[in-house]
Amino acid sequence: MILFKKKGDLRQFLDKRKNEGSTVGFVPTMGALHQGHISLIERSRQDNSITVCSIFVNPTQFNDPRDFEKYPITIEQDLQMLEQAECDVLFLPSGDEIYPGGLPSHEKFDLGYLETILEGKYRPGHFQGVCMVVKRLLEIVTPDLLYLGQKDYQQCMVIKKLISDFFPGIKTYICPIIREADGLAMSSRNKRLSDDARKRAPAIYQSLKAVQESLGKESLPALKKNATTRLQQQGFKVDYVDIADAGTLQVADEWNGKQKLVALVAAFLGEVRLIDNLLLNQ
Ligand code: AMP
Repeated sequence: MILFKKKGDLRQFLDKRKNEGSTVGFVPTMGALHQGHISLIERSRQDNSITVCSIFVNPTQFNDPRDFEKYPITIEQDLQMLEQAECDVLFLPSGDEIYPGGLPSHEKFDLGYLETILEGKYRPGHFQGVCMVVKRLLEIVTPDLLYLGQKDYQQCMVIKKLISDFFPGIKTYICPIIREADGLAMSSRNKRLSDDARKRAPAIYQSLKAVQESLGKESLPALKKNATTRLQQQGFKVDYVDIADAGTLQVADEWNGKQKLVALVAAFLGEVRLIDNLLLNQ
């Protein structure tokens, strides 16, 4: 694996390889890698001649400064995992390399409805920060294919909007959620859970499965309420349990038996905020 810290050096390398006919797959991450990230690398390696992973803990997408300060950093282990997964290139830029001249204060992306619901509502400014960094990374890497995880369902939709607005030539591939054996969706933030919290954490997936199993048997508001109560009983502070159209993310209160739905959860265990989702009727 080749490690680049400077965008100019990475660009030069990729330009040369693209001129030789290589296709480039790109997996942007914030590090503290786990098997969920590696599944994206593996998928990209199947589809492309070169796979580029980036690790950059992006300050502009943290609405909570404490979350940014405590974001896990495990670079030695990340390097080992990427080597083992036979990733071709790691881009590990500094803050200055991505935001020369400091953090942008006037940049604004039109995300419409998507920014007003769920993560957009509970993490003000979060998706603006996501767009700031992803736009810069895509300008540097100019991949053929961008690999994203369904784990961040709403983020996938935001990035698709960014791509259709600014990079119509780039295709996206959404990879399924990789889970621990007990159902907990893998996440870098899981590393911050106490032993007790880690034991409770699978309740998120269990509550999503319960929504799926009862779909059509109870009203959507009742399903949401039951899932919320279940999580609260397990000690979670729930931001939201919602059910939405899987294609548009318009929140749904009724179901016609056909509409494709996704259930989404965000909840705190102590200081750690976890998110998960489940397609209810694929
Ligand atoms: P992050 O490092 O959290 O910014 O995630 C980088 C990419 O990995 C994003 O596209 C995530 O959606 C994806 N990802 C994170 N966790 C998982 C998971 N458990 N399964 C699949 N993809 C994931």
